[in-house]
Amino acid sequence: MTLTSERPASTPEGPTPTFDSLDPRTGDVVDSYPVHGTAEVEAAVAAAREDAEWWASLGFDGRAAQLNRWKGFLTRHAAQLADVVHRETGKPHGDAALEIALTIDHLAWAGGHAAKVLGRQKVSPGLFMANQAASVEYRPLGVVGVIGPWNYPVFTPMGSIAYALAAGNAVVFKPSELTPGVGTWLADSFAHVVGRKVFRVVTGLGDTGAALCRAGVDKLAFTGSTATGKKVMATCAETLTPVVIEAGGKDAVIVDHDADLEAAADATVWGACSNAGQTCIGVERVYVHERVYDEFLATVVAKTQGLRAHGGLDAPLGPITLPSQLDVIRTHIDDAISRGGRAVVGGPGAVGDRFVQPTVLVDVPEDSLAVTEETFGPTVTIARVDSMEEAVRRVNAVRYGLGSTVFSKARGQEIADRLRAGMTAINGIISFAAIPGLPFGGVGDSGFGRIHGPDGLKEFTYAKATARARFKAPLNLTTFSRTVEDDGRLAQLLVLLHGRGTILDAPDTRRARAVDRVRAVRRAGRG
Ligand code: NDP
Repeated sequence: MTLTSERPASTPEGPTPTFDSLDPRTGDVVDSYPVHGTAEVEAAVAAAREDAEWWASLGFDGRAAQLNRWKGFLTRHAAQLADVVHRETGKPHGDAALEIALTIDHLAWAGGHAAKVLGRQKVSPGLFMANQAASVEYRPLGVVGVIGPWNYPVFTPMGSIAYALAAGNAVVFKPSELTPGVGTWLADSFAHVVGRKVFRVVTGLGDTGAALCRAGVDKLAFTGSTATGKKVMATCAETLTPVVIEAGGKDAVIVDHDADLEAAADATVWGACSNAGQTCIGVERVYVHERVYDEFLATVVAKTQGLRAHGGLDAPLGPITLPSQLDVIRTHIDDAISRGGRAVVGGPGAVGDRFVQPTVLVDVPEDSLAVTEETFGPTVTIARVDSMEEAVRRVNAVRYGLGSTVFSKARGQEIADRLRAGMTAINGIISFAAIPGLPFGGVGDSGFGRIHGPDGLKEFTYAKATARARFKAPLNLTTFSRTVEDDGRLAQLLVLLHGRGTILDAPDTRRARAVDRVRAVRRAGRG
């Protein structure tokens, strides 16, 4: 199936400028895409607003049926989509297929659970308002803008797109300039299945993203670096547009002395090196109990030595997709080594022109760049700690707080509970991201707001509260004809409800005094 999108060749101001997406393994041009300016972005948001009304009118069941059809299309064409991801990011085909499989599972969950999570729910009115029927429902915001990164160009933005759509919104998506083809393919596939462009794409560079922030969307969901997240938030502040910020991370693994070391080492190597380390929840630091440090390190080294990044079809690791990231990775390795660290696998020579070979660093000071800043390459620091308390302290010392991992047989939950991170996997690796019912997001410099799960659905809605009078209130509090006796009864009720131990067992005289006090206050007020 070939999906073709409309690409305006020109605007009234002249020919539309274009940019190229490149194959990072070779630098070859994959395709060219328009650089959408402010006018085109505003037009996309305005058109999406019309589609939003139609989409909202379908109700939960109608939308779930459409999302289900789209899910089926994505599943049947997963190989085609994986090919686009593979060409634009260079990641192995199998990794692209894995990202797509997880995305489809999330899409199924979002469509299938929206009614239950967001539909009208009864709320107890409480005794003061016993005559009311109270309820809350979660309504779509309208048009949600989504700005996405290139590292997981399907899974990451779809964490916002699928949940925003399931909640009843239209979406305008600005993919990374490195992966415009993936974003375009996704939006085209939706339009092909649903017949309306409820989900649209605009392409371009950072300025196109900034234009989307200013285009009057009802919420902006950003995923990308912390630095750009701050710019997005500042731009959105101009129009009081609310934001979700899913930013960078510096995730750590903790290995206790009783851990399954083989499993912990396997998870560390995969978590650090898969997708060539370009994973927001990738493993960048490890803290290991001193009793098992040597054995753990030897296992990690053995597993890492066989891994090589290259451009072949059977590569376990692909290229570094964003060329400027090579300098960041090189700087972090050099800084670690110049401050007394040692590379037991890889090292400064591991950073090539397009590929970075796995690198394991030890004895790295805790204030080095490789420990404090996001590296976004297949590198990991491994440090010895004398206790789990020390491990927790070091994990929590950085300004990021996205994911985290604990390997421990006896104390997994206890250690996990003490980590300042939005997500923790115990005796597994990034398992939380693949469970659609769990929220995904961070704290600190990793951002705020949540995608995935019930929180992810609610993120793209506003809560609408309704209170309906069922019968005349025996005690009408919201009227100027309220009497002092009413106020006295209210005072009595208040004490009965909330003053246990003070007046429940009090003699009548104290209740009478309560009424007297109210009378005095009201007389004073009138005077
Ligand atoms: P960037 O921050 O460079 O870019 C993210 C998106 O923002 C891109 O679409 C980019 O467009 C756009 N953008 C750039 N400048 C602006 C601007 N001024 N206004 C609005 N939008 C703008 O991140 P990367 O694409 O390099 O992605 C890697 C980062 O993403 C890492 O830090 C990683 O940790 C993080 N990430 C976080 C995840 C999470 O869930 N917390 C998940 C995945 C990644 P363009 O590409 O055209 O410049």
